[in-house]
Amino acid sequence: MAPRVPLGILLAATWILDALAIVFGLAGIEKAGSAGLPWSHGLFMSVIWSVVAGLLAARLYRDRRAGMVVGLLVFSHWVLDFVSHPIPFSSFSWRSWQWSYGHPLPSDLPLLFAGSPKVGLGLYNSISAVEATILEFGLFILGGAVYGTYVMKKKRAGR
Ligand SMILES: [Zn+2]
Repeated sequence: MAPRVPLGILLAATWILDALAIVFGLAGIEKAGSAGLPWSHGLFMSVIWSVVAGLLAARLYRDRRAGMVVGLLVFSHWVLDFVSHPIPFSSFSWRSWQWSYGHPLPSDLPLLFAGSPKVGLGLYNSISAVEATILEFGLFILGGAVYGTYVMKKKRAGR
């Protein structure tokens, strides 16, 4: 859908909100805790970052569709976080040889800024750490397969 945009940029777009969380955390602008992460992971600011990234990409690649794709990829992070969050801390016990999550956490994605209602469907509150890992690797392999199939088809069509 956006052949001008390198794969690395497309992948980076999906990770921008987490990168912002790290930057804002280091700068002391936001801190994981009761306020959630409104500047990087709030619904409102996620829409803003998605629009900004989309406009930048559209300008950089002189392609509106490239901008749409990059913007939607940035926002896809919020959608998947909405399904999976809150993510309880995981730990591994050498004694029982078991990997598990701590106690379930309350929703942690703010709609607006600090103090606004927080949302999150909490998938990771209801599946085990092992199931979550299988799910994530499964999605990664599925995505790789879809991309690989597409690239092969395109190469074959090119000959
Ligand atoms: Zn995130």
